[in-house]
Amino acid sequence: MKENNTGRVGGYNCVVCIKQVPDTKKVTGDAMKADGTINRAALPAIFNPEDRNALEAALSVKERFGGTVTAIAMGLPAACEILREALMCGADKAYLVTDRKAAGSDTLATSYILSCAVKRFKPDLVFCGRQAIDGDTAQTGPQIAEKLDYAAVTYLEKIDMDGDYAVVTRDIGTGVETDKVKLPALFTVTEKAGELRPFNVRRVMKYKNAELKPVAEAEALTEGASVIGQLSCDDIGAVTERCGFAGSPTNVAKIVSVVLAGGDYKEVAPTDEGVAGLVAELVADHTIG
Ligand SMILES: Cc1cc2nc3c(=O)[nH]c(=O)nc-3n(C[C@H](O)[C@H](O)[C@H](O)COP(=O)(O)OP(=O)(O)OC[C@H]3O[C@@H](n4cnc5c(N)ncnc54)[C@H](O)[C@@H]3O)c2cc1C
Repeated sequence: MKENNTGRVGGYNCVVCIKQVPDTKKVTGDAMKADGTINRAALPAIFNPEDRNALEAALSVKERFGGTVTAIAMGLPAACEILREALMCGADKAYLVTDRKAAGSDTLATSYILSCAVKRFKPDLVFCGRQAIDGDTAQTGPQIAEKLDYAAVTYLEKIDMDGDYAVVTRDIGTGVETDKVKLPALFTVTEKAGELRPFNVRRVMKYKNAELKPVAEAEALTEGASVIGQLSCDDIGAVTERCGFAGSPTNVAKIVSVVLAGGDYKEVAPTDEGVAGLVAELVADHTIG
């Protein structure tokens, strides 16, 4: 195996967690059920936007420094669609964690299950999106890192490699910070990391019909076979009590649709008295103070 320009032999083993989400930009009247939960069937399912950026970050590490990219999704078999897209863009392997035991998982159980799946591949680098557009918690990535005892670097914009370290630029709100992080490490990626490259035409022909097959069967096929490995909770050593409803302490008490009213305004005289009156009003109704 060749030594790359970082002095590291064999490049980097990258895993990317990608999630299929309902397209929340296409919300219509049918998007919410009577009980206040999301009617997933009424919304098109898409590749979570920032997971596309996470995949691009991983592919760019592989392109510049060598190595492999494995995409993992957890969800229903329909999520194979985004795994096929990942393969068509350049991922080497794709796996779907799908199991009835995982149904009803909150972020704690989801990150536990994903951490078990990630561990199976012994990666140097793990990439997640910063957050998913449906759950929006941004908890899953850091929770996976915590469970694997990996360093967690959030809001990644740029990554370079230096031997057993990643040199990263991350958004800190008021500017950027550059860090040098010992591997293995997990990165949550923002849109600033770059748009996902287009499909490669030859890979489209190869992977457009990639089929979901039990993991043992998938891995017995030749390297690069057009297949998605199916992982159950047992396959990844995830214990039942920490998966699905059993492993989810979160209770959603109520979901409400908040309608933000706009258009009301009040004119305040551009004088010291006008401003003092406004401040007094805001303090009185507990908006400030
Ligand atoms: C009580 C409760 C019950 C729930 N029941 C279900 C259920 O039955 N079915 C269901 O689908 N959801 C369910 N959810 C939602 C589920 O917990 C979240 O989708 C999941 O934990 C991810 O959280 P998030 O969407 O906030 O992602 P974030 O934390 O915002 O995601 C950050 C990143 O983590 C990675 N990631 C997150 N989720 C996945 C995934 N599934 N696969 C791969 N990568 C991922 C992606 O890289 C993503 O960009 C439930 C939530 C609660 C609170």
